[in-house]
Amino acid sequence: ENEARQVDVLVIGSGPGGYTAAKRAADAGLHVAVVERNRIGGVCTNVGCIPSKALISEAHRFEIRGQSNINFEEVQSFKNAIVNKQSNGVGFLLKNKNITVFHGEARFINDHKAIVDNMDSEIHIRFEHCIIATGSRPIELRAFPYGGRILSSTEALDLNQVPESLIVIGGGYIGIELGQTFARFGSKVTILEGADQILPGFEADMTRPVVKKLEENHVDIYTGALADRVEHLQDQVTVHFKENGNERHVTAQFVLVTVGRRPNTDGNLGLERIGIQLTDRGLIPVDEQCRTNIPHIFAIGDIVAGPALAHKASYEAKVAADALTHRHAKVDYKVLPLVVFSDPEVASAGLSETEARARGMEVVTGRASYGINGRALALRASEGFVKIVAEKETERIIGAQIVGSEASNLIAELALAIEMSATLEDIALTIHAHPTLGEIVMEAAEAAIAKGRRG
Ligand code: FAD
Repeated sequence: ENEARQVDVLVIGSGPGGYTAAKRAADAGLHVAVVERNRIGGVCTNVGCIPSKALISEAHRFEIRGQSNINFEEVQSFKNAIVNKQSNGVGFLLKNKNITVFHGEARFINDHKAIVDNMDSEIHIRFEHCIIATGSRPIELRAFPYGGRILSSTEALDLNQVPESLIVIGGGYIGIELGQTFARFGSKVTILEGADQILPGFEADMTRPVVKKLEENHVDIYTGALADRVEHLQDQVTVHFKENGNERHVTAQFVLVTVGRRPNTDGNLGLERIGIQLTDRGLIPVDEQCRTNIPHIFAIGDIVAGPALAHKASYEAKVAADALTHRHAKVDYKVLPLVVFSDPEVASAGLSETEARARGMEVVTGRASYGINGRALALRASEGFVKIVAEKETERIIGAQIVGSEASNLIAELALAIEMSATLEDIALTIHAHPTLGEIVMEAAEAAIAKGRRG
């Protein structure tokens, strides 16, 4: 077993970054191996995007049906079935592409050699190129160590009962998605967010419809709230926090901590051993082809700068795989969609009006609301709006923000528009089927044209 296997490309991690890179390199004719220490598919498939969206849509269905009791066991088995299907699907994909999968933990020996440790053996692998895609894990707060009643997103997704009450520390997208989901299933939810609004990073008018809906879901939201300690009672926990300087506390059955994620660049991986640089936050600095300071070793996904999102990881995967097969590729984050799967959904691509103006650009914006759209009314989804930001002079679309039903799907048209430097007229004169939510996008473009030409 100690003889080294030889591969063209070693990919460490099988999340959306790793499996996409492996597939693309294999499609280019290279001999590829993937190492995974946990389940195939990474965080996204197993404990991230996929299970969270399964629970979100079940919570939505439950709320719409107006039933009083939830069969949570059924919900969890629905979610688990989807996760298994997706994880197996990634496994089949790798197999079909003749990609070797090694189960175990990878560590670097030198810059052309790694060892995979699993329970009963050590596999030595020599590689020409390596793509590191080891992802991230939840940040743990010192005052709120995980275990027992203090949950990370991973445990929260796997609860076998709907908690009676839940405190969520951190009102970013993961906290809002999971907090609202449990509230819809019947938990009494309290959200503590340190910034002055939930979903910091989105413009305030986009978060307002979400706040309104959270209030309908009986969620208590504290902003400017810093959690500082926890007290364990018999079957509950009390979280003490300061809200704009005032001492407060709240008691619940569980605490969910969603304050961000940290890159898996430490531990046994051995990056320092081979001289790969890290930033002080543990991220790997890369160039525009995702190369580390060692040119035949690439890094992608949650371990490099930028928002920790699955589609960013898979995008970088394509760029890195192309770079090592000598195809011209470099990253361009001009569009990068950001989506929150709250109710209503929030999505943005490109620049916001504020960001564009901060860059000194002269812009025109157009806005159209869901309230007058026939399809939205039929869907009982009349809350929300589409906003388009264009360069004033050229009418080129540079950004878009949507809050409302199906924002996650509607943003795709605008992402393509930005990517292709489309103008407001391109959208306004594209025939959009009637009655669809897409017509709101068309109307926002028309509104921007009218506003811009009025002066
Ligand atoms: P990961 O998916 O983290 O995969 C890395 C893999 O590498 C892991 O499986 C790990 O076991 C393995 N690994 C690490 N070190 C080693 C080693 N030394 N040897 C072998 N294997 C190793 N993103 C979205 O875009 N949309 C969403 O809706 C969304 N929802 C989310 C919801 C939740 C609750 C969470 C937690 C995250 C969500 N994300 C979402 C973020 C998304 O999951 C991540 O951005 C994405 O998974 C990152 O992909 P990656 O390939 O960089 O790494």
